[in-house]
Amino acid sequence: MEEKENCPKCYEIGEKVKNITVKHMVSENLRGKVVDEETYYLCMNEDCDVVYYNINNERVFYKEEVKVPIWFKKNANPKYICYCNQVTEQQIINAVLDDGAKNIKDIIRLTGAMKNGKCEINNPLGKCCSPLIQETINRALNSKE
Ligand SMILES: [Zn+2]
Repeated sequence: MEEKENCPKCYEIGEKVKNITVKHMVSENLRGKVVDEETYYLCMNEDCDVVYYNINNERVFYKEEVKVPIWFKKNANPKYICYCNQVTEQQIINAVLDDGAKNIKDIIRLTGAMKNGKCEINNPLGKCCSPLIQETINRALNSKE
């Protein structure tokens, strides 16, 4: 059972993603291939070019078949952290280093991140980006010292 959650290409365990998220992430012409009852996973391996796959490994969607760059995949450009408002990792780092942002509130004010979020259909994981914003802030703060 568990082995079926592994990416068919790199065999790493993927992160479960809602069907509706996958439907909105794949290119319009492929949307029909995302079957309602199927469970999908996101391959979290930065070196693997598989993005989504379903539990029986019958359907696989690659990087070029998804509408947005997946932030943690190699060569993602731009590297969005907040997909709802197209705020990039670099913008968050700049807000910390150049504008003195120290927390998520500052980032929201300076970059417009997390406004009118529709994470379920805009974020490749279908989740709110706030933990990632926090991570990016922490990294930028650490690099400052
Ligand atoms: Zn993979």
